[in-house]
Amino acid sequence: MNIKNYILELLFPTYCIGCGKAKFLICADCLAGLKMSAGLGKIFYCFSYKNTPLVRKIIKQFKYKFNVDIALVLGVALKDLFLEALKKNPELYNATIVPVPIHKKRLKYRGFNQAGILALSLYDGVKSEGRNGLNFAYMDCLIRQKFEEVQANLGRDERIKNLRGAIGLKKGANICGRVFVLVDDVYTTGATTGECKKVLVGAGAKKVFVFCVAKS
Ligand SMILES: [Zn+2]
Repeated sequence: MNIKNYILELLFPTYCIGCGKAKFLICADCLAGLKMSAGLGKIFYCFSYKNTPLVRKIIKQFKYKFNVDIALVLGVALKDLFLEALKKNPELYNATIVPVPIHKKRLKYRGFNQAGILALSLYDGVKSEGRNGLNFAYMDCLIRQKFEEVQANLGRDERIKNLRGAIGLKKGANICGRVFVLVDDVYTTGATTGECKKVLVGAGAKKVFVFCVAKS
């Protein structure tokens, strides 16, 4: 532990999100108990919200109080999921990773885009595995051009209506013919990822896979 972490630990002691034990945000026992329930269908996800209440807690912490340890844990889960998906989807060898964007107003308030951090750690994790034939890219090419209030209490149809035209493409982004892996933290109604997909496909993307940490 370096000095900075030592002082931080004195000021703000950490407790495990799962069991309350001191020192770690997720202790080894709780981490070991986190079962991946890899969904490898239309949507690729690491955990099911229903079966793993701890994941719900972890994502909340990650989203509203950035923590590097959590980002790393979730990044590893995404990497494992990707390597699993690679076995049956050879198109993923040429994937371009893209995060679901957040509006700059929200970015200013939150300080980071949680999907961006996940997408980057997925990218770094898979690259460091050094698979043969992997032609991987990272492209933060989407923007959120419309600010929506929190959508949590809206139904699916309302969300979709609300999101119409909310996502755009950054200038000069070269989308044509690419296979994308769109990354988000949680998949709920699919309204947001659906809108991102529409923009990418509209600009000439060959295919868009959706990867997320948890699916509700
Ligand atoms: Zn624990």
